Amino acid sequence: MTNKQAAIHIIKQLHRHGFQALLAGGCVRDMLLGRRANDYDVATDAKPPDVIKLFRRTLNVGAKFGVVIVLIENRQVEVATFRTEADYSDGRHPGSVEFASAAEDASRRDFTINGMFYDPLRKEVIDHVNGQADLKRQIIRTIGEPAERFAEDYLRMLRAIRFSTQLGFPIEPTTWSAVCRYAKEITNISGERIAIELEDILAHPNRAAGASMLIESGLAKAVFSGFTGNQAKLSIDILSQLPKRLDFPLALAALFAGCETQFAIECCEVLKLSKNQNNHIKSLLIDRGKLLDEEMSLAALKKILAKPYFWDLFELQKAIRKATDQNITALTKLRKRIKALGDVDLQPKPLLNGHDLIRLGAIPGPALGQLAEEMYIAQLEGALQTPQQAEEWARHWLQKYTTHY
Ligand code: ATP
Ligand code: MG
Repeated sequence: MTNKQAAIHIIKQLHRHGFQALLAGGCVRDMLLGRRANDYDVATDAKPPDVIKLFRRTLNVGAKFGVVIVLIENRQVEVATFRTEADYSDGRHPGSVEFASAAEDASRRDFTINGMFYDPLRKEVIDHVNGQADLKRQIIRTIGEPAERFAEDYLRMLRAIRFSTQLGFPIEPTTWSAVCRYAKEITNISGERIAIELEDILAHPNRAAGASMLIESGLAKAVFSGFTGNQAKLSIDILSQLPKRLDFPLALAALFAGCETQFAIECCEVLKLSKNQNNHIKSLLIDRGKLLDEEMSLAALKKILAKPYFWDLFELQKAIRKATDQNITALTKLRKRIKALGDVDLQPKPLLNGHDLIRLGAIPGPALGQLAEEMYIAQLEGALQTPQQAEEWARHWLQKYTTHY
């Protein structure tokens, strides 16, 4: 069963019990555009307790706000009661919800193209907000006065850019001026919510257009204070040179490629990313530039290749070179060297361990660490291939060490 079939199954069941039930929001937009929808949301006049009673398996995630998740086979469908959202006192979450008509539910939604319903049983679009016309015109426009709608929830400014990026539709001029005018207010929104929209913008192949709107509107500067000017322009060019598909950390590293690493890391803190994502970004920024060393030793190459984000680093470096009109010969050579390595073990077990070295006469302490590191480099270089060779090499090293000190 697909998500869509599960949603239609739920709609039929609600109908049978005398309720109105429709597909709502993003999935209607995507169906009309002939795109595959992410998720199929159902909107209904049934109240959460009715929905919970009608289906065997439900998750009560936000019945207070009128939302119940219905589980059908292995699918989850969000079933939301038609509602208005009143009292946005903090520009973040609605203070309260009131159950309402379908028309009122449409008008609380963000953009006209996201405000339509579809009745799958009658095969009919229900459009209270002129969404179909804007879908034909290919524009992103708020439902109602943009300034008012943004003041209710400033995240909508980022969402406007997100939909514009994903769909390739421009933002309608009045909506756009309001984004620019209220960009500073984005700081009222939590970093986590900002990160979700930002990821959708920057992970999309059309990310350079998205970044350029973020910068032009002043949203980028507001989210990442101090991020302006030339750095920002360079980021757009770098983002446009990245591969189509990528992970959010690579996109963020590219966004900040023109900045000092410490500044970039501080900017990313705003987004409250996971430790893993932060480390990923940090290592890309710290290591940028390293791949351009054509004289890189075999050991250094193996070490950097063994890093988990090596290929992201490669793509980032390539994008930086291209965006700044510099050749990528060093990277092409590097790729050839890597290919020539075949499937060699990048992180082999050291030929001798600490105990072995102590047995050979090394004294525990920093010198032992130094010996082990140098021996491992010789191993990665291919100079040492057997424990016997390593032993001989270590004895020699220890002799030199002892005579020196
Ligand atoms: P996607 O296909 O990427 O999931 P979507 O349109 O479904 O896009 P969601 O974020 O999943 O977007 O939200 C579902 C629907 O809920 C939207 O289409 C819109 O009607 C409404 N909506 C979501 N967030 C807001 C918001 N901040 N303000 C007003 N309406 C919103
Ligand atoms: Mg959705």
